[in-house]
Amino acid sequence: IRESSFPNIYLCLEKADSEKQVLEYRQGKEKRMASMVYLVGAGPGDPGLVTVKGLELIKKADCIIYDRLSSPELLGYAGMDCERIYVGKADRHHTLPQEQINELLVEKAKEYHCVVRLKGGDVFVFGRGGEEGLYLREHGISYTVVPGVTSAIAGPAYAGIPVTHRGVATSFRVITGHQKNGEDLSEPDFTTMSDSKETLIFLMGLSRVRQIVDGLMQAGRSRQTPAAVISHATTEAQEICEGTLENLADRVEEAKLTSPALIIVGDVVALRRQLHFFEEKPLWGKHYLVAKIGPKPSRLAAMLRAKGAYTSECMTGEIVGVPAVYTAQELAHVDVLLFTSANGVDYFMKNVFASGLDARALFHTRCAVIGQKTAEKLREYGICADFMPEHSNSTNLAQELKEYLDQEFRGDPFKRAVIWYPTAKNAKDNLVDTLLSFCDCGRLNVYENVPCPMEVPVDKDVYDAIFFTCASSAERMLGSLKPQERETLASVTDIYSIGPKCSAALGELGVSPVIEAAVNTYEGLVDCVLRKE
Ligand code: SAH
Repeated sequence: IRESSFPNIYLCLEKADSEKQVLEYRQGKEKRMASMVYLVGAGPGDPGLVTVKGLELIKKADCIIYDRLSSPELLGYAGMDCERIYVGKADRHHTLPQEQINELLVEKAKEYHCVVRLKGGDVFVFGRGGEEGLYLREHGISYTVVPGVTSAIAGPAYAGIPVTHRGVATSFRVITGHQKNGEDLSEPDFTTMSDSKETLIFLMGLSRVRQIVDGLMQAGRSRQTPAAVISHATTEAQEICEGTLENLADRVEEAKLTSPALIIVGDVVALRRQLHFFEEKPLWGKHYLVAKIGPKPSRLAAMLRAKGAYTSECMTGEIVGVPAVYTAQELAHVDVLLFTSANGVDYFMKNVFASGLDARALFHTRCAVIGQKTAEKLREYGICADFMPEHSNSTNLAQELKEYLDQEFRGDPFKRAVIWYPTAKNAKDNLVDTLLSFCDCGRLNVYENVPCPMEVPVDKDVYDAIFFTCASSAERMLGSLKPQERETLASVTDIYSIGPKCSAALGELGVSPVIEAAVNTYEGLVDCVLRKE
């Protein structure tokens, strides 16, 4: 080979003994050359308000350093190996002092290629992004700013308040409600805020509402000027307290609003009565707990949030692959592959690729899939489903499959079809037994749903409903409760189940009543809850 005309191979052989050093050298060089800290605005709370660029960076980050104010759902998009560091900045309660955050940024930039510093709202609107940028520059580290949607504008917008409006407000000002000069707390200069056509937005001012409204009235703003405090703006926990400069402080005290919150003052606040939209959603005010498998944000929870509900997600397990090797010869004998889930498709194909094969090894095999999502997943691998049974329960599914096979193998009435059924190792179903009556069916365990420690307590006083999308979640989440506790829970909290298997598991735990989706999909569950509420 050395004498052949393949210079690359020659080079590899020559350096083979120091391969590891070469790799380390290259990785080190790449890091030195291209390490970048991205100061990314996460938006005000609604995870949908992050920018496209921001989300792409979250997905590819090696390390994310984030605040309390950046939406937790966004972190769910980060890769498995991404290091997540919480520096918990919120108003005055800094878990990590700014100087240490700066140092951490430099330290991580030396360690990783792509570091994302995720900040609530916009990076440069009271986010101390400027200070972090200066520190990085001083230390010779490249940085990029990805602006975010600031709460100062999006918060009022979600409350139905435009910060400017023709004939009502010609400008707006964003002001910090707590200014610190060394150790002293100084007041903003209210004398410059008397223009009735200017909208004022105070951030970090919840604990100082009274001083702020008093200051504005003394500066000459009318006592009747509409004003509001918006807390947890743009999230399902959004709460608004409305009034005038004269009565706002009392109302806010009474309503016991919590941080983060902003104060908005000006005639534009009155437009809210005609322009509000966010609180009108059908599930507004509901708090749901959604069980999920894997760290990715739950699609069901996102669908419920889109209808206005406040959701908490509880991960009860994770999916891991069960590796296997298939040969082209054995695949050539398979007449039908039966996929009942997108995971079944993914992990079966993973094994096909790991066996040194690809979709061509399945060229003669018919694919039967249950559900549109499974069909779509299969298409991603370049394979269109041949048959989609209507039913997912074993008896009806087997009947439909039998009719399909009779049709397909009409010319060969003595043929006993070979079916492979890639599924989860611990899935309980009797599908194979049912199918064996008319074909040779083999179950392939291609993945496993393994339990994980759960962080969300199942408290009966907190949730309006709990959603289960698989039997394993129900067993893991409710199995540890005492029977009496389960009974109390089901009597005060609605328990939703995606389908018969999940409902049966809940039944075995003595949880009743259970509301089961008429159509066994996430969409079916959402329809079900909308009909009930
Ligand atoms: N960079 C952020 C502001 C950081 S200062 C931005 O552009 O939004 C922190 C202050 O922002 C909080 O004290 C609060 O006044 C405001 N804030 C942030 N998120 C908020 C939210 N979801 N609802 C109401 N106020 C919010």
